[in-house]
Amino acid sequence: MDGSTIFFHANGGSHQQLLIPTVDIDGLRFTGLAFGVLPGVPGYSHLQEGVRMLRAFLAVSLALFLLTLTSCGPGGKSLRGESRMPAELGLTIVADTHNDVLLRAVEGEDLGTRTKRGHSDLPRFREGGITFQGFSVWVNPTYGPMAFERASAIIDSFDVLVRRYPRQIGLARRASDVESLVGAGKLAGFLALEGGIALGTDLSRIDSFYNRGVRSITLTWNDTTPWASSAEDEAEHPKKLAQKGLTELGRAAVQKMNELGVLIDVSHPGERTFWDIVEITKKPIIASHSGVYELCNSYRNLKDGQIRAIAKSRGIVCIAFYPGYLDSTFTPKFEAMAKRHKSELDSLREVFKGHDDEYIVSRNKLLKDELDTIRTPLSRIVDHIEYVVKLVGADCVGIGSDFDGMGTTPLGLDDVTGMPKLVRELMKRGFTPGDIRKIMGENFLRVFREVSG
Ligand SMILES: [Zn+2]
Repeated sequence: MDGSTIFFHANGGSHQQLLIPTVDIDGLRFTGLAFGVLPGVPGYSHLQEGVRMLRAFLAVSLALFLLTLTSCGPGGKSLRGESRMPAELGLTIVADTHNDVLLRAVEGEDLGTRTKRGHSDLPRFREGGITFQGFSVWVNPTYGPMAFERASAIIDSFDVLVRRYPRQIGLARRASDVESLVGAGKLAGFLALEGGIALGTDLSRIDSFYNRGVRSITLTWNDTTPWASSAEDEAEHPKKLAQKGLTELGRAAVQKMNELGVLIDVSHPGERTFWDIVEITKKPIIASHSGVYELCNSYRNLKDGQIRAIAKSRGIVCIAFYPGYLDSTFTPKFEAMAKRHKSELDSLREVFKGHDDEYIVSRNKLLKDELDTIRTPLSRIVDHIEYVVKLVGADCVGIGSDFDGMGTTPLGLDDVTGMPKLVRELMKRGFTPGDIRKIMGENFLRVFREVSG
């Protein structure tokens, strides 16, 4: 990940900073982590976690208050008829399995208003033609023992959004909800817990999250959990792992997710974990935001054998847009650029200390011309889609943008409103209308129906 647009760490304490943000939204998240207060570092305490939680609570409370004032206001209008998708394709279900915009909502931002912040909000989802959105519930590992509460606060922010804009968005617990919401011109949203940290070691938390509407869980984020080893740790820090793959607890979690109807998302777990999951799952699995390893050798991407196994499970691979997952040359080019501009970027970091999103916006403005020369073109997303289609067929691929979770987007795709451009690129590359409908959403709805009912 390359630094997120949304993550605030304005609280005090001992901060650690990276001079050069690492890669992907996960990078963005990595940047967020770098700015966070780390366990074991002086300044980390439950009191500070309490302050964070209190801030999130106050933000949600304020939003609830505003809800009572504005639920009948202009934000209440229907979603229908404002998409810029090519009408001739008859796209109804346009699904994106991964977006991190709730990290802005939990800070009190009103997603019903079109802004230039981040990559998405309700008006921009509408303009981009998205009708079925996976909302990531990502918890920074720095939340430690408060991870469950943090995840709950993020889910609260989604509930507030739905209550505030009931004519624009609703929670999809099952496939029939998706169809009725989309049929009514609304955005169907499902909740996707990213990283097992919020589960702690307590299986009953899967029930709690399920009851609140969570329908997808990645067993890890970049950090290994008591459940499973992560892709980052398996690839980059294998020596620190006591065990690779799923633990007994992880196996029990997979079984429970199968029983409840929660999608197993393999986008961050390591390869060993992946194959352990494949061995025991009885339901299709998905990669909610990954790419093809053969086209970009990131540990976050999937090798051919993994793609075949996902297809065999009747699941899908949803292609992420972060340039660092699309093109192996992006990260080295980005790091070289950041090195060339080190002093300017250091100054910016100082100015926006504790406000990663503001920093990234300013950085991208400052370096725009140069950044545009290294940003991966959006056609590269279609290269990854095409690769999966050739390997396992058009039934096994989808879209998992990672909008609002990446600091740099592909060239030509600045935010979610660019989705129609991606569809036009698919048309240009010769995909049939039927295959485009599958890739852009019908495939994911099929998997959602099989797993969640
Ligand atoms: Zn991620």
